[in-house]
Amino acid sequence: MPLIAFDNSYARELPQHAVPWQPATPPQPRLLYWNAALAAELGLDSADVAAETLAACFSGAQLPDGAQPVAQAYAGHQFGGYSPTLGDGRALLLGEVIDRRGQRCDLAFKGSGRTPFSRRGDGKAAVGPMLRELIIGEAMQALAIPTTRALAVVATGETVSRERPLPGAVLTRVAASHLRVGTFEYFANGEDGDALRQLADYAIRRHDPALRDAANPYLAFLDAVCRRQARLIAQWMHAGFIHGVMNTDNMTISGETIDYGPCAFMDAYDPATVFSSIDERGRYAYGNQPAIAQWNLARLAETLLPLLDAESQQQAVAQATEVIHRFADQYREQWLAQARRKLGLYTAEDGDQQLADDWLALLQTQQADFTLAWRYLADAADGDGTRLAALFADPAALLPWLARWQQRLAAEPQPATECAAAMRALNPLYIARNHLVEEALAAASEHGDMSLTLRLLDVLADPFTERDGLERYALPAAPELAAGYRTF
Ligand code: AMP
Ligand code: MG
Ligand code: MG
Repeated sequence: MPLIAFDNSYARELPQHAVPWQPATPPQPRLLYWNAALAAELGLDSADVAAETLAACFSGAQLPDGAQPVAQAYAGHQFGGYSPTLGDGRALLLGEVIDRRGQRCDLAFKGSGRTPFSRRGDGKAAVGPMLRELIIGEAMQALAIPTTRALAVVATGETVSRERPLPGAVLTRVAASHLRVGTFEYFANGEDGDALRQLADYAIRRHDPALRDAANPYLAFLDAVCRRQARLIAQWMHAGFIHGVMNTDNMTISGETIDYGPCAFMDAYDPATVFSSIDERGRYAYGNQPAIAQWNLARLAETLLPLLDAESQQQAVAQATEVIHRFADQYREQWLAQARRKLGLYTAEDGDQQLADDWLALLQTQQADFTLAWRYLADAADGDGTRLAALFADPAALLPWLARWQQRLAAEPQPATECAAAMRALNPLYIARNHLVEEALAAASEHGDMSLTLRLLDVLADPFTERDGLERYALPAAPELAAGYRTF
């Protein structure tokens, strides 16, 4: 029996925009990581499969039966400028599987060699960045933030040349789909007039089947994508997550986070935070992410204009514009609803937005650690606020706000202990801190030592439960380590 029961709907239904292609053959595949829990969710029975077989199947050495690899075409706005042909320059879609919940998922390689879309790139990936993608994806998953995930990471035994020679790897990525805003841009700007509608119909079948019978289905689809993104970006903001390259080719239709390149979690709260070395002007800074998401969604809206059920072009533009404007409200609503829960509040009061805004302003002026401040706020709900106060440059500055919040909390029907427990179930103690990620990647990349990566994955799998012996996983880096941290 084949390991995976593939279906290949994308290759079958949109063949003109998928190039059949084969992965490069790695000289010496070695399994670095196999995500057994995810494999089980996908219904893959891998328990009795040897590591060598998995390494071969998930590196390109020996494709799993039923895989029908294609390089997907897409375009994208990168840092605001349009690139008409990006596409899978170092990725291949192997096909889809239906998971245990009946959801169709893509399985795709990343780092599997050159394709017709590679331009000047080598089509390869290095061990470090592929393990980063694994770690951050699993961290997001544990935080209940929609994400693509790594099923396997296989070292290829090949050296890839970057600023210095690095060990190569192939990642197998699982995604609800790889349909991107950039996929729509590519189809909309192509020669084939029917292609866009075919893509939109495919996306609706796959992600929003209930909208097939909507009054204005493509407008309803745009709205659905906006709602998913509003929720996702609000989750990113509340986790202190900075994606780093929010180009339209890195924004999914499914609402999953994709493409963990120069991403990072923020330490001290500052909306201007940028880690990415290539984001020189801070376009993708933490605080810009909601506005950039809306900008990207406006690019999606433009592609859908010809499909909208409207009397005129002008009316179509008006319809789409309204949906895009609504994104701002949807985002604010999502953000506030999530903020209330993080503050331990079950009910809604008029002053809650101000209360949350003032909390963040306080964290910023006090340069308090974002993650720990939220986490230790729970102590102040049911225990004592000593750990919280210790995060503040001037602990006295916290007191007026704390009194306001405690008064607000006292008006909740739930007892304080219940509010505090709910806060601890939402405000993580352990996040993928930059120095922890870097030390794990360095050990794996430089010494082939996966132990730190496995240990970190283990900690991050349960970010909400405080455990003995994990103190260093909760703490931010020493200031001298954190200063000037850059991602690539
Ligand atoms: P990204 O910035 O990672 O979203 O990638 C943008 C584009 O560059 C996509 O079309 C990728 O497939 C392509 N790309 C990135 N790295 C490589 C590489 N090493 N070789 C070929 N193409 C690449
Ligand atoms: Mg990308
Ligand atoms: Mg990338």
